[in-house]
Amino acid sequence: MKNKEQTASFPSALWHGKPYYSLDAYLKNTYGEKIYKVALNAGLTCPNRDGRLDTRGCIFCSKGGSGDFAAPLSSPEEFRAAFLSGRRRLAYKTAGAKFIAYFQAYTNTYGPVSYLEAIYRVALEDDSVAGISIATRPDCLPEEVLALLKKLKEDYPHKFIWLELGLQTIREQSAVFIRRGYSLSCFEAALDALHDLSLPVIVHLILGLPGETKADTLSAISYLNRLPVWGIKLQLLHILKDTDLAELYFENPQKICAFPDKEAYLDLLISCIEHLRPDMILHRVTGDAPKSLLIAPLWSGDKRGVLNALHRTMKEQGTFQGRLYNEERMVYHAGPTDTL
Ligand code: SF4
Repeated sequence: MKNKEQTASFPSALWHGKPYYSLDAYLKNTYGEKIYKVALNAGLTCPNRDGRLDTRGCIFCSKGGSGDFAAPLSSPEEFRAAFLSGRRRLAYKTAGAKFIAYFQAYTNTYGPVSYLEAIYRVALEDDSVAGISIATRPDCLPEEVLALLKKLKEDYPHKFIWLELGLQTIREQSAVFIRRGYSLSCFEAALDALHDLSLPVIVHLILGLPGETKADTLSAISYLNRLPVWGIKLQLLHILKDTDLAELYFENPQKICAFPDKEAYLDLLISCIEHLRPDMILHRVTGDAPKSLLIAPLWSGDKRGVLNALHRTMKEQGTFQGRLYNEERMVYHAGPTDTL
């Protein structure tokens, strides 16, 4: 237990009793109800897959392109049918509910602008959709796509448009290891452009990349704290079947899997949350790997158990998001040498 003043100082009502500002809490505060996500595969690809940059994908990326829950599509009509069917699948427990259309699989701004416009509008025009969330890469946001996003924001002022950028790491060696394929300056330029359009950005960060220390991860948190980042997904590194990372794992499991047990992961995760800017929305604190693909760490398959352990441990420690935010001891040590 740290001390009572610190324990009492997080906004329990705003955060709905959790020791951090979760997406669920934000949505309940904003809409007065739970909002459900429909994960979508819009049939797009990725420059790390189609040969523009590489054909192998990021080292951890499964064949479904980080969206193993959805089926591939190829036209706005098929997209509409899949969206409606995804929504119907949730409907039995969510009568009258609102949804987020989550463009999840592959790179969802990488395609003909006319196609992108058609699929985004399918979702935005649906009365039950509160907004859309578009997962993409910072090197796939050309002027035409930014202009489209600006127009959609004007056309649908009562709906939100979020962008999700898979940064994963700020350490140059790690970016090369995972074959990310763009520089940190590219990420910063994309973030600035989206910020200029007042589009909220969610950044994905992977915890447990081989060779990364706790100091490396906290440097990434410190770096993101200083940027116009609205939300963050903290994602445990999963080793999935049919990935290059899985081959490396079988050669040397200890080197590739940083968290053979849950406790070590919780220790790092709690440090990240303690150092995180208190107003940043935490969209994810672990991961949702399909059980059929997950090789390691297997304990992460019990997502409910991980979340319960996180909440229990943070409560026992009397800690919460941002408790150490004002400690400016962390030094951001990526920089101009970052070139890929
Ligand atoms: S950028 Fe995303 S979709 Fe493309 S290979 Fe990497 S993880 Fe997969």
